[in-house]
Amino acid sequence: MAEKKLKVLAVDDDMINLKLLKSMLMKTGYVGEVVEAKNGADAIGELKNDPDFDVVLLDIIMPVMGGIDMLRVLRADENLRQPPVIVLTTDETKKAEALEAGANGFLMKPVREKDLSAKIHQLIV
Ligand SMILES: [Mg+2]
Repeated sequence: MAEKKLKVLAVDDDMINLKLLKSMLMKTGYVGEVVEAKNGADAIGELKNDPDFDVVLLDIIMPVMGGIDMLRVLRADENLRQPPVIVLTTDETKKAEALEAGANGFLMKPVREKDLSAKIHQLIV
């Protein structure tokens, strides 16, 4: 892991989930910034504005644009930098679809800090 702290894009329509995730990430010590987005369309907008994200944490079920659709839009857009995406969901049946749509990792909610950190470290070297 590089010395530079990570910039994370956290995408979830549930504001409480977002706050919990952000506070979990900020406590790890290796995350410097967490930007929040409330649906897939919002997340694509953030990625267009700022190519500097190190990792995206993505919910699946969201209004406007869900996580699977967001992944498909992101992975199809050659103009966007392609950060690793970890899907966080309560629905294990979505795993194959998420990975096929371009997710790099998959974790079940509620997410434990240990598992999330292991996954992030596995993807970012
Ligand atoms: Mg949701």
